[in-house]
Amino acid sequence: MKQDIKSMTPEELQAELSALGQPKFRSGQVFSWLHSGVTHFEDMTNLSRQLRQTLQERFFITAPTVARKQVSALDGTIKYLWRLGDGNCVESVVMRYHHGNTVCISSEVGCPMGCKFCASTIGGLVRRLEPSELLDQVLFSQLDSGLPISNIVLMGIGEPLDNFDNVMRFLELVNSPQGMNIGMRHISLSTCGLVDRIRELADRKLQLTLSVSLHAPDDAHRSAIMPVNRRWNVDTLLNCCREYFEKTGRRISFEYTMIRGVSDAPEQAELLAKKLSGMQAHVNMIPLNHVDETGLETSTPQAIRRFQTILEQHGVTATLRRTLGSDIDASCGQLRRNYEAAKEEAACRPGD
Ligand code: SAH
Repeated sequence: MKQDIKSMTPEELQAELSALGQPKFRSGQVFSWLHSGVTHFEDMTNLSRQLRQTLQERFFITAPTVARKQVSALDGTIKYLWRLGDGNCVESVVMRYHHGNTVCISSEVGCPMGCKFCASTIGGLVRRLEPSELLDQVLFSQLDSGLPISNIVLMGIGEPLDNFDNVMRFLELVNSPQGMNIGMRHISLSTCGLVDRIRELADRKLQLTLSVSLHAPDDAHRSAIMPVNRRWNVDTLLNCCREYFEKTGRRISFEYTMIRGVSDAPEQAELLAKKLSGMQAHVNMIPLNHVDETGLETSTPQAIRRFQTILEQHGVTATLRRTLGSDIDASCGQLRRNYEAAKEEAACRPGD
């Protein structure tokens, strides 16, 4: 069985290459090739022919293909549907902000968490992504779009903390100075609230931004839309967030989806402010994006304004997330496994 070479850390690669009798600097060369998007060993032209051959026999290089690419006519947001090596598909979104281009990547094929408002979870979890497949979304988004990527958000399909080890390894890879060299402060990771994993993450003391999907301040409403709340309820989660802040010194950002009649009552704003007091938290309000299957609706602009005002009156900073790529269904919660779309695309391409 060939090994996935792009999932290897610089140290692991070095160990493999020294076992092949190669000098120390060689692994740096191979790592740079891989992380600049080279997909064939034969193209690594500063390696001997024989070494390229040996690598080819022992390792494979992942390379997703573009199954579908949609560009928003409104704001230039690009949504990619990638076909992975085993035929599964995941989506990533490239957004153009003043502070730099940001890619939103998927962490799993499908999602096991079952949030009621989210399209990504409809078919359940198919499999977790490998470190190389996480990295490839950043790398190939940059190569295909020609837009230099400076920020990453782990907010696409899947629950990143459910794929903990591979996500940690990905962070090490994408952060590596010999690779894409994207700083931890330019990376955000969003979780639905896996408390045990947030504790593990805190121990690593990474400088990334942790976003926690809260969506309701009371257990009755949160459990109704997020099954994870039955395992770790609101207070348990918020206590864990306090510990996270104490350990890492990093302010947590809370995502709060505005769903009509579910999460947008003034009393909920009061309760939320009370529960977040003393936490230096930031609330990121997201008007619910439409997903046909859910039967849920977004809050009215008045309800959103009222909610935000109450939070601010209590000293909680709250911003309203701008919706990008709305004409191509590229917003939060709208990303899907979408293998049907990939099949259609493939069928339209003659000779493929
Ligand atoms: N599993 C992670 C990351 C993926 S979702 C998490 O739960 O945080 C990224 C964000 O989009 C989460 O806050 C999620 O709750 C939110 N989201 C999901 N569906 C949505 C929808 N239909 N409208 C608005 N936000 C949604």
